Amino acid sequence: MNLTKAFLADLGAFGALVPEEYEGAGMNNTQMARLAELVGANDLGLGVMMGAHQSIGYKGILLYGSEEQKKKYLPDLATGRKFASFCLTEPSSGSDANSIRTRAELSPDGKHYLINGNKIWISNGGFAKVFTVFAQTPVKQADGTTKDKVSAFIVERDFGGVTSGQGEKKMGIKGSNTVEVHFENVKVPVENLLGGEGNGFKVAMNILNNGRFGIPAACTGAMKHCIMKTVEHVSSRTQFGKKLMEFGDVQEKLADMIVRHYVTESIVYMLAGSMDKGVTDYQLEAAIGKIAASDNAWID
Ligand SMILES: Cc1cc2nc3c(=O)[nH]c(=O)nc-3n(C[C@H](O)[C@H](O)[C@H](O)COP(=O)(O)OP(=O)(O)OC[C@H]3O[C@@H](n4cnc5c(N)ncnc54)[C@H](O)[C@@H]3O)c2cc1C
Repeated sequence: MNLTKAFLADLGAFGALVPEEYEGAGMNNTQMARLAELVGANDLGLGVMMGAHQSIGYKGILLYGSEEQKKKYLPDLATGRKFASFCLTEPSSGSDANSIRTRAELSPDGKHYLINGNKIWISNGGFAKVFTVFAQTPVKQADGTTKDKVSAFIVERDFGGVTSGQGEKKMGIKGSNTVEVHFENVKVPVENLLGGEGNGFKVAMNILNNGRFGIPAACTGAMKHCIMKTVEHVSSRTQFGKKLMEFGDVQEKLADMIVRHYVTESIVYMLAGSMDKGVTDYQLEAAIGKIAASDNAWID
């Protein structure tokens, strides 16, 4: 793992979309899709680890971070000196992300927030040093009342009070680390509020929408790899005196795999290309891409 990590760090693979001024590789989305494709072709567990780090883990800093936050955190994260996690899901809150119970209370002197709560199924959560954490904060309304709203925070493990559970035993992508992460009286400086108080739900959704194209890209690579393996097998294996590729149903199955791959790849590069051109309304296409690609890769 250490050799792989050093190799990927050298390639800039942990900071694909991060501008060079913050020690990133400065790629565009199309180039990142190509990288995700290569990783997906070789190891989807590694793909999840890399995606959880840069497509959601620290993506909020890239999208919403202040100049100070970017300068402080991105160089270490883009180079893999530190890893990041995205902490939204809780035992009672999955799809219904606005209902999270983790709380962040501002201290009386207004200098820090105290975060308390429990997150589950956090990718990279066992070894991450930096966490994008979503928590309810009491926000003053225009009419003078106070309402709980989700806010996003950059939390360092070194702040103290952050603990991780055991790795979940999953059915697949076993190479990726998925754990509970607990926050107990974690003292977070106010400077680490990300995207403004009460804007956390928007921050979370935009991170997810923006990072989503990495999954279809990785699936495209995995599908291409499966097609190559299938071609190798059906063109070398002989049954009933014929190569498997000479049987009509085998040809039909292979053609189906190629069609599904072509469709998936087309979605990925249309999406990444649109994002590179500055299109901002891509969330539906990103969601369609994720569903189509994961279904197509599963069937392949
Ligand atoms: C391997 C893995 C890694 C993960 N990594 C992370 C991570 O790094 N960070 C993180 O924060 N989370 C992570 N998650 C959590 C993941 O994002 C959640 O699983 C997801 O938000 C869905 O929540 P849930 O599983 O609680 O399902 P639920 O929200 O309980 O939904 C269960 C089912 O009900 C359906 N459903 C729910 N609401 C509706 C509705 N309104 N209409 C119709 N159908 C509905 C859903 O589609 C689903 O089929 C990870 C999960 C897995 C499995």
